[in-house]
Amino acid sequence: MIENLHQLEKNALAEIQAATNESEIIAIRTKYLGRKGLITQLLRDIAKVPQEQRPLFGKRCNDVKELLTSRIEEVLRLQSGQNAEEALLKEKIDVTLPGRAVKYGRTHPVTQVAQEICSIFSSFGFSVVEGPEVELDYYNFEALNIPKDHPARDMQDTFYIEENIVLRTHTSPVQVRVMEKVKPPVRILSPGRVYRRDSDVSHTPMFHQIEGLLVDQGITFGDLKGILAVFLKIIFGQETKIRFRPSFFPFTEPSAEVDICCVICKGEGCRVCKQSGWLEILGSGMVDPAVFKYVGYDSEKYTGFAFGLGLERIAMLKYGVSDIRLFFENDFRFLRQF
Ligand SMILES: [Zn+2]
Repeated sequence: MIENLHQLEKNALAEIQAATNESEIIAIRTKYLGRKGLITQLLRDIAKVPQEQRPLFGKRCNDVKELLTSRIEEVLRLQSGQNAEEALLKEKIDVTLPGRAVKYGRTHPVTQVAQEICSIFSSFGFSVVEGPEVELDYYNFEALNIPKDHPARDMQDTFYIEENIVLRTHTSPVQVRVMEKVKPPVRILSPGRVYRRDSDVSHTPMFHQIEGLLVDQGITFGDLKGILAVFLKIIFGQETKIRFRPSFFPFTEPSAEVDICCVICKGEGCRVCKQSGWLEILGSGMVDPAVFKYVGYDSEKYTGFAFGLGLERIAMLKYGVSDIRLFFENDFRFLRQF
């Protein structure tokens, strides 16, 4: 048996010496040291060795096992170093290939419109103020003179979080929050997200509004008309025709909706303007004295005007987009055009 072991050791070392690649070495390892390998088999046959020779035989077997294991590991280590070196020699970088273009993001069209409007009103001396999207009923309705039984409070339109907490349905509550803190004169612009339970080609449950408020001594409806006319002409072009239509909002009196001559058909009548030749653009009016009362302004001394408009609506008209939902699908092919 000892003789067999000696022969096996010689053979194994010769085979390791002769091996030329990694897979051959691994095959040798399996052949001698594997679970069914030759050394394992010899150890299993230890019962056939005479009693007094067993300790020596066992020790010799382990010595051979250790020797082969360390020799194989050494060769494998050498081999993997060689492989890495070869791989490095084979790999090449072609520095003459053209680079891949980096794709830049763009400003979202709704953000572009918001930025444009903010910059126009900044030049009129307005500052930009933001307010919370989760709003108290008091600021969203009550202090804007929207009584408990007003249709705007209907569950159909408003997302209620709790009885007295809503997702704001317009940016108007920012007016109240500002007037509570600041004494006139006030000139603010407030862009932001608003929420209503509504969804179709021209409505999404979340959309963007911009709200403007100017309060000072001696402000008249003429100031409102003047500022809004100049603003709309900057946005839609100097030749844009504008009309003011009497309307009703609980927080302004008198109130007016502002239309521009249809930008698609130039007033001829088309699908977008529902054949009227006019497009509704914004709501506006002189701040109702009842609102001033809530914030402690003296309505005998101060007057002011407010206006609000939907940013998606402006973006749709400016860029000729027919479905409002496109703005929120994050389709790169759509957004890349702006
Ligand atoms: Zn039209």
